[in-house]
Amino acid sequence: MIQDVFCKIINGELAADVVYKDKEFWVIKDINPQAPVHLLVIPVKHFTSLEDFMDPVRNKTSAKSGSSADHAFQAGRTSNGMEENNDELLGRALVVAHKAAHQAGIAGKGYRLIINEGQDGGKLVPHLHIHLLGGKRLGPKLVK
Ligand code: AMP
Repeated sequence: MIQDVFCKIINGELAADVVYKDKEFWVIKDINPQAPVHLLVIPVKHFTSLEDFMDPVRNKTSAKSGSSADHAFQAGRTSNGMEENNDELLGRALVVAHKAAHQAGIAGKGYRLIINEGQDGGKLVPHLHIHLLGGKRLGPKLVK
């Protein structure tokens, strides 16, 4: 089984401040918050990154139904290696982020969603996740 800090949290091996969970996603408080509200939307299903999520070979799909991008959205691995329908997972992640923003009381004033990808993107934890930041005016700069 693939192990990373978020898998460990989801598997109950590591504690976290969990603000929401369902079958597909957990939302936890970031351990090193960069804003008054800093949450992480984490798919239960392990994908190392967005690239991993979109990779048709890694996701072991057949060539029967169109483009590579189609395949990436149709199958993903579960922790037990089974393939499962993965359609619209990222769309549902945004729905969860939206719910979490409302739950945190920051939806009215606004917030920012970020996915860090790869080395240049500054990704630290090898498990696809979305940062939800808010609770103050974040300013115009996306890049330091
Ligand atoms: P990224 O650079 O997108 O991979 O960000 C990973 C984020 O996970 C960072 O903001 C870390 O502060 C956060 N993080 C790492 N370990 C934990 C943990 N055990 N609980 C909560 N957040 C964590």
